Amino acid sequence: MATSTVPRLLSLLLLLSALSLSVGSSSMETVGQRECDYFMLCLQWPGTICKSTHHCCSSNGCCRSQPLTHFTIHGLWPNYDDGSWPACCSHSDFDIKKVSSLVPELEKYWPSLYCSSPSLCFGGKGLFWAHEWEKHGTCSFPVIQDEYDYFSTVLDLYSKYNVTRILSSAGILASNGDRYPLGDVISTIKNAFGASPIVVCRHGSVEELRLCFSKDFKPRDCTMGSDIIDDASYLRSSCPRYVSLPTYAPLVLGDVSGATSWSTDH
Ligand code: AMP
Repeated sequence: MATSTVPRLLSLLLLLSALSLSVGSSSMETVGQRECDYFMLCLQWPGTICKSTHHCCSSNGCCRSQPLTHFTIHGLWPNYDDGSWPACCSHSDFDIKKVSSLVPELEKYWPSLYCSSPSLCFGGKGLFWAHEWEKHGTCSFPVIQDEYDYFSTVLDLYSKYNVTRILSSAGILASNGDRYPLGDVISTIKNAFGASPIVVCRHGSVEELRLCFSKDFKPRDCTMGSDIIDDASYLRSSCPRYVSLPTYAPLVLGDVSGATSWSTDH
């Protein structure tokens, strides 16, 4: 009996070590990292950002000849209910080959809007996508399993909740003259999406619109108790009482001297 137990124990140990190796290599589980409470999908209004573009480079979406007229993606951020958030959770370098089939959609809906390269978690600078994956994506485990899962989840959420269309069907349109009550922007999104967003402004224009999701990707309010939409909504945000969704005229890349990819500041 003793002679048959030893090989069985050995094979059990071998099986266990093989299993733990595959978890370690195929997932981005991080030791000691507390799981997030919810996710925030951060969208940007290119009109506001691109208005301050002074340098052009081929990687900057603001420099395309056709101006961007839809909200674009900033990133999907895991958050905690207490207002804090995890960042740079595991050393999983962005590898564009893992998302090559998504690149056409990423170019369209998740463009860089600056020429400068954002910093990466473990040194150096890189693509905007690399920054978002390494800083936020790696903290989305175990809800999101890997790089492909992160980018495809974001694209799915973005196409499911089309805030540009939601706002324009309520008459809230890109314009350089019109201003809209912040309360109308918030309630239009809340009615269509089913939960309160966060609106971030720069100089009175909408810069970001953030939608929040529970960990099963059902809409939820971004800030607890923020479902009261009143005239004083602006007091709780970076926005004035009336906000705009500006348009912009793209700089023409060829006309700008000395511009090179990833070399200029924003
Ligand atoms: P985050 O850490 O996700 O808040 O992203 C902030 C960093 O990303 C800063 O370095 C920003 O300048 C940069 N950033 C934000 N939006 C964009 C964008 N659309 N394109 C390129 N870089 C961006």
